[in-house]
Amino acid sequence: MIYLDNAATTKTAPEVVEAMLPYFTENYGNPSTIYSLGSTSKQAINKARQTIADSLGAKAEEIYFTAGGSESDNWAIKAAAEAYESKGRHIITSKIEHHAVLHTCQYLEKRGYEVTYLNVDRNGIVDLEELKAAIRPDTILISIMFANNEIGTIEPIKEIGAVAKEHGILFHTDAVQAFGQVPINVDEMHIDMLSSSAHKLNGPKGIGFLYIRKGVKIRSFVHGGAQERSRRAGTENVPGIVGFGAAVERAMRTMEERTKKEIELRDYLIHRLETEIDHCWLNGDRTRRLPNNVNFSFLFVEGESMLIMLDMKGICASSGSACTSGSLDPSHVLLAIGLKHEEAHGSLRLTLSAENTREEMDFVVDNIKAIVKRLRSMSPLYEDYLKTGKL
Ligand SMILES: *Cc1c(COP(=O)(O)O)cnc(C)c1O
Repeated sequence: MIYLDNAATTKTAPEVVEAMLPYFTENYGNPSTIYSLGSTSKQAINKARQTIADSLGAKAEEIYFTAGGSESDNWAIKAAAEAYESKGRHIITSKIEHHAVLHTCQYLEKRGYEVTYLNVDRNGIVDLEELKAAIRPDTILISIMFANNEIGTIEPIKEIGAVAKEHGILFHTDAVQAFGQVPINVDEMHIDMLSSSAHKLNGPKGIGFLYIRKGVKIRSFVHGGAQERSRRAGTENVPGIVGFGAAVERAMRTMEERTKKEIELRDYLIHRLETEIDHCWLNGDRTRRLPNNVNFSFLFVEGESMLIMLDMKGICASSGSACTSGSLDPSHVLLAIGLKHEEAHGSLRLTLSAENTREEMDFVVDNIKAIVKRLRSMSPLYEDYLKTGKL
């Protein structure tokens, strides 16, 4: 099997699993208890919280554990909307956010909030002038993702943060794809809230965090016990938190070497695809791009058909985001960068890891070439094109 869907989820690293195991077996104490079995759990949580805080230039008490990226996005946006309601009810986000952000914004729109969805350019980048023009006296929150999960584009986060700060507006970023792949500093980038999820960086599923800058007014998300400074009640997912800490430690330690290898593989794959297959192109920005993301559109081809044929060769890929596969709507991200419906339908996302090899990339390219050729040979549109020469 060749796994090229690391934007959907990643393999839990063996060292992460090893770090977690004792917290299922011997160290199962509830961290809220006072006997030493409980304090072992408490200490492990503190350690993970500190590791994560250090990796972002944050303070430990600014890290709140959640059940993942979707929960963090929901919390940040809904709770900020509620806490800052007296200042206004206007939120700014972009058209290419993850559904955890977009659907939360739509939920708030039904409850009397106004949301501006910023456009992006052909490469998926938010325009700072459009952002500035969208700001109103009643704007309470700007939520722009750090890097896009479909096309890999990295947004100008520091510049967006500076604009938000200048106007005294809260800035939240969904950094689920970026954290562990690119260096992040919440102070330098003026980030007030940041969402992350362990399973996107070789940690376990079902554990995430929301960074909330000290001083930000924000409502509790889960009411109950005093866990997470009374803001997110519920007995902590101790093994998950320990695993997240270990995954972050690993991600920071290996970032430079790992992303260098990913970039080499990524650029090799991009080069081969664009030089050896006609009527196809790379989606997303060439340089402001996640180290492991490749996203192509192939004319006269259905992305879903490609996925099935790649699966028969043992290759795991995606035709968009995992949440939308199974539905026939073209990706909102690809439409936002200006692709036509049929161009968006013919898209393929390959997200690598440093465990992939050049031989695997060759195998993948050879198979994509054969699959594109076969699917085009069955396409009436392609036949028309061959007859008329018109695209
Ligand atoms: C995966 C992902 C999420 C959701 O994270 P979960 O932990 O799966 O809930 C949110 N935003 C982005 C950009 C993602 O890639």
